[in-house]
Amino acid sequence: MKVALITGASRGIGAATATALARAGWAVCINYIEQTEKAEALVEALRAEGCAAICHQADVADREAVFAMVARVERELGPVDLLVSNAGIAEQRQFQDISPAWWERMLAVDLGGAFHCAQAVLGHMLHEHSGCMIFVSSIWGGHGASCETAYASAKHGLIGLGRSLAAELAPSGIRVNVVAPGVIDTDMVQVLGRETLDDLARNVIPMGRLGRPEEIARAIVYLADEASYTTGQVLSCDGGFFI
Ligand code: NAP
Repeated sequence: MKVALITGASRGIGAATATALARAGWAVCINYIEQTEKAEALVEALRAEGCAAICHQADVADREAVFAMVARVERELGPVDLLVSNAGIAEQRQFQDISPAWWERMLAVDLGGAFHCAQAVLGHMLHEHSGCMIFVSSIWGGHGASCETAYASAKHGLIGLGRSLAAELAPSGIRVNVVAPGVIDTDMVQVLGRETLDDLARNVIPMGRLGRPEEIARAIVYLADEASYTTGQVLSCDGGFFI
């Protein structure tokens, strides 16, 4: 059974991705930082369906914790064949209100986490001459976002990391791609308020609705399972937000 590590998978896009991958036959490790109950409930639900799943608490910004997590996954499920680097945080702030500590934390989680995870799983992939990494960026990884400079900087960085790593690792049989979701109906966007979200859906998003976590999950499963000749690409899943 092939093994997938999905970061930030206790809820939202990560949980939907872990579920879709598990149902597609992957053994999954569900990483999270705080919501132990949600992560454990997801593991239980997947096991009840006959899937192989574990969960592991680790801050993806903490390099030692990431390497310890990957070591546990290798012991309990096997070496990681697929990394879905999805864990992320977001907050809207005017640029002048961003403290150095907040800037560093945002970059450490949203970009540094992908760096640590990719290095932690790479040894096995290089050895096997195969493997797949998928970084979850955002529409704000390819466009400017007012009051989201730190988030957009990290998400732009993820696209640079993904493309560069794809170029470097293609000769080693490892594919690296990026998914760029638009506005997806998860906890992350609830801070905007229902009225703003409805307005975005009605007046900004050409498809007239927010995305669902399961729709991003399907794009990730496609990149992992089907897109065998695709690397270094950014797959936008944004309802036509940017065309
Ligand atoms: P979410 O509902 O807020 O869930 C965030 C997930 O990340 C949770 O599982 C959380 O764990 C985990 N997490 C946060 N910080 C972590 C850390 N330092 N280490 C490990 N795990 C951590 O977010 P989402 O909407 O599903 O977003 C998932 C990804 O998609 C993010 O990278 C986000 O930037 C990106 N994205 C989202 C949207 C959107 O509209 N929702 C759009 C574009 C891109 P706990 O549950 O334990 O807190």
